[in-house]
Amino acid sequence: MSSTTSGKGATQPCNLCESNHWKVVFEAGVAQEGRIVRCLQCELLYVHPRKRIELKDYRDRGGGDDAGWELSPSSLERQKSQLRDYRATLNDVAQHAPGGKVVEIGCSSGTLLAELQSRGMQCMGLEPNGHAARYGRETYGLDIRTHILSEANIEKDSFDAALLLHVIEHLENPLEVLCQIRTLLKPGGLFVLETPRYDTWSFKLFGRRERNVVDNWHLYFFTKKTLSALLEKAGFIIEKTSSPGRTVNPSRLFIVLGKSLRLSSIEALGQWLAKRKLNELLSFPLNLGDILRITAKVPASHAQ
Ligand SMILES: [Zn+2]
Repeated sequence: MSSTTSGKGATQPCNLCESNHWKVVFEAGVAQEGRIVRCLQCELLYVHPRKRIELKDYRDRGGGDDAGWELSPSSLERQKSQLRDYRATLNDVAQHAPGGKVVEIGCSSGTLLAELQSRGMQCMGLEPNGHAARYGRETYGLDIRTHILSEANIEKDSFDAALLLHVIEHLENPLEVLCQIRTLLKPGGLFVLETPRYDTWSFKLFGRRERNVVDNWHLYFFTKKTLSALLEKAGFIIEKTSSPGRTVNPSRLFIVLGKSLRLSSIEALGQWLAKRKLNELLSFPLNLGDILRITAKVPASHAQ
């Protein structure tokens, strides 16, 4: 947690402020596979050198041994608790443009879109994982395309609202994607973004063992300050920020524990519990303060 270095040669400037000056926070292999640095100018925390996320791996994930993961008891249970955890967001979107058009980028199997569709909204989902996309199409009759945003050819000014939930931390170029989202939204359009946050007691306490920083699929680690600045740079106006919690139950606790201890019997116990009524009865809200949700709007008249 020490050396100060400035990038030279094949530079990958900071996505937020374009500076090449950063300080190492965790060397490669300490928290996760990548080296994590903090920009000396704007404090953005990111993996450097930026690893290429192999989209092909993600597109195929859930096939083979994992086939049918969308239908596993814990997954179906998670879909149910998502509706509780995102109630405020769903209400905001439905109230912003009743009957309007909403797109979720990275919608997985489309639980939230299905709820918005049942409230009369016209929904489109983008989900590169073919298994999750197919599940959403077949179960909820949703329009889910197996594309990433840059492949989807969405017309400018065509949506009233957009959701990007736990996706931005995986992107190679978050600023570019935020600009694309601002462009597909109509003037005044609503945007809800959620991601893990790192201006937290849990990051200070757990450091390299913090539950999100260890994930090799995470390339960016935002704080309220850096994410707000990135949104403003992309042309959004921040409406509100919050730190929402999650619904937790015994099944989820056993699955997380089994995974981190690599004990499949504990994980299997979690899957078994997910099917039990008791599991729902024992569920409770937990807020560790490590999630950041920002609601933003496109200016009423598009300024470039
Ligand atoms: Zn920076």
